[in-house]
Amino acid sequence: MQTQTPEQSKNSEQTFGDLGLKKSVLRGIELAGFTTPSPIQAEAIPAILQGGDLMAQAQTGTGKTAAFVLPILHGLRNNGEVEALVITPTRELAMQISDEAFKLGKFSHTRTICVYGGQNIKHQISFLDKNPQIMIATPGRLLDHLRNNRLRNFAPRIVVLDESDEMLDMGFLDDIEEIFSFLPNDIQVLLFSATMPKPIQELADKILLNPTKIKITPTEVANTDITQRYYVINDNERNEAIIRLLDTQAPTRSIIFTRTKKEADTLNSFLCAQGYSSVALHGDLDQRARRSAIAEFKSHNVQILVATDVASRGLDISDVSHVFNYHIPLNPESYVHRIGRTGRAGKKGVAITLVSPLEYKELQRIQEDVGSKLELFELPVNITKKLDDLLATEISQDAIDTYNQLSSQAEPAQLCLKLLTHYLTHKSASFSAMIELDSRAKETKPSKPQRSRKNRPRSSR
Ligand code: AMP
Repeated sequence: MQTQTPEQSKNSEQTFGDLGLKKSVLRGIELAGFTTPSPIQAEAIPAILQGGDLMAQAQTGTGKTAAFVLPILHGLRNNGEVEALVITPTRELAMQISDEAFKLGKFSHTRTICVYGGQNIKHQISFLDKNPQIMIATPGRLLDHLRNNRLRNFAPRIVVLDESDEMLDMGFLDDIEEIFSFLPNDIQVLLFSATMPKPIQELADKILLNPTKIKITPTEVANTDITQRYYVINDNERNEAIIRLLDTQAPTRSIIFTRTKKEADTLNSFLCAQGYSSVALHGDLDQRARRSAIAEFKSHNVQILVATDVASRGLDISDVSHVFNYHIPLNPESYVHRIGRTGRAGKKGVAITLVSPLEYKELQRIQEDVGSKLELFELPVNITKKLDDLLATEISQDAIDTYNQLSSQAEPAQLCLKLLTHYLTHKSASFSAMIELDSRAKETKPSKPQRSRKNRPRSSR
């Protein structure tokens, strides 16, 4: 996140010291190497410090974790109770937030407890003996503990819902509502979500009291350190295209996003069979396999992670040189989230999207929404394969007739070279079609659609 977004440079005069955080927290920030607050931090931290509720629309990569962790650290009383609760959709995210809190809370004597399914209950609860101030929990297990009254010294004054839309997608909203029935009314609630679909707005109406609303739009996230390209391919050429791009672009570390878990498995098997060092990450893998995949990739043991959106959501992995979209993502938010896995911490990154002619409309929609222009590239030619194909071609009668006509006009060697030049530089039909579509779209570019959000009155908490 050290990269400067356009919005960030606007805040470049501002320092963390200006936000009202106390010294021990500022020392943690300094140790973490953060110099300038990101836009979400500049807006959210003062609002949270004032004590009110917050509803923030921000993607991963915007620095949103620190935006809620820092005010939590600022307000710790170290009175032996769990003072803050962060609810998050996945165990991986819970652990990541715990790491961030630990890193930033170095001088605030911070202890965290992670509460998630799949871990022995007694063992998990035993960590409460260490008097952690911050609990980071996934909804199902947290609710289980609350229903069974297992949480000692549990008195959060501040509750964060992180990645709320993800919790909606994973079917956790009912659990969240029930969790709130166990919490007192006078807590401060912070809701973070990358998107604000209707069910999340309705949840916000129920659990937030006159919240400050902040929106960091995808355009503000879009990072100038990321080169964005698309390659036109036919639907059945995706695997071949990925191989050619991996070979010619030589990424040091890449993430390939697929739409489905099955696609992730199939592509991963294909890449492994071709000798690439790759691992799959998706929601059907058990917890151990997911952790092992992430660890393998993080530790540079494997160079390629083939992942679905949900599984990779929120993962903070640096040094990813290339992101590939095996298909065009389903929505602009997903596109922004995916490409934000590269070009982090001031490094350059390349985001490549494979687009079939049928997906062109989707591509246009994403470009308009995200506000960035993807450049059209042609797949590098696989000369060896092309020549193999050429040598394997059977000679047709038409070719013999045409040769007889041409042989009086050019030497055989010259003719052969002309044909080879034509063969090797000939654009594919779909590439030519895409250039045509692209130039037509430029001529009739529609204006950017405005999004509206309803302001509803809030019911009582
Ligand atoms: P997040 O959006 O919370 O997933 O944060 C993305 C990454 O940015 C994490 O690695 C953070 O440690 C890092 N980060 C957060 N805030 C800042 C900041 N103000 N300056 C530099 N890096 C940051």
